[in-house]
Amino acid sequence: MGRPEGRLRLLVDLDGVLYRGTTILQGVAEFFAWAEAAGHSSLLVTNNSLRTQAEVSGNLRRMGLSVEPGGILTSAIATRAWLQAQAPEGARIQALGGSGLLQALFSPGSRFTPDWESPEWLVLGQDFDMTYQKLAAACIAVQNGARFVVTNPDTTLPTEAGLTPGAGAWQAVVTLVTGVQATVIGKPETGIFETALAMMPAEGAVVVIGDRLDTDILAGHRLGATTALVLTGVSTRADVDAYPVKPDYLFEDLPELVASWS
Ligand SMILES: [Mg+2]
Repeated sequence: MGRPEGRLRLLVDLDGVLYRGTTILQGVAEFFAWAEAAGHSSLLVTNNSLRTQAEVSGNLRRMGLSVEPGGILTSAIATRAWLQAQAPEGARIQALGGSGLLQALFSPGSRFTPDWESPEWLVLGQDFDMTYQKLAAACIAVQNGARFVVTNPDTTLPTEAGLTPGAGAWQAVVTLVTGVQATVIGKPETGIFETALAMMPAEGAVVVIGDRLDTDILAGHRLGATTALVLTGVSTRADVDAYPVKPDYLFEDLPELVASWS
């Protein structure tokens, strides 16, 4: 396959593509320089709903990468955008999540009202302060008719010590207890990408760049985008052979992508 033609709209994953842990990967600055020089637009798209755009921007800056908060889309911001289209002014929302989600939904001027008594919507994200009481309240809200929305379906959150529960694990508990399936905004669903495209220029082929077949590449495939997998994160060449959805492009890393597409 050649390279994608014309000006591109690049939807770029963060962890495993731009950095691993707290270390920036090789060639990231050159990737953004190439994109800018070629006239491509880019947006960083993360399933993580814990942090605000400003916090993600600060983390990147500490790694040596300068990205404005508006150049970052979290699943929390995408969930807010989705709710703004679905829920009326003043909708009552019970939200379980980190500062990224709570600020997205309830910052001053928000059209939503936090409500744990009779919520119309239950919104679930990663929550490091999860408790039995919160999960029980979430299950009861859904049984009482609250519509169930999840920022991202990642069941695990990798740490240096091992895997820990992600938002998808809390989602599974609520679904097991209530029998109700959630609406999911983050990858591999396409809601987050639809919000991303609304933040970008209207023209240009859409290219998803990610490190995971079962989130980034699957979501890009569902969106009808061109997909590029880099092998600097989770998925391996063996995974590509075994997975039913194949990326359009496969690169060892971003420098190989830039060399191939320049
Ligand atoms: Mg990733």
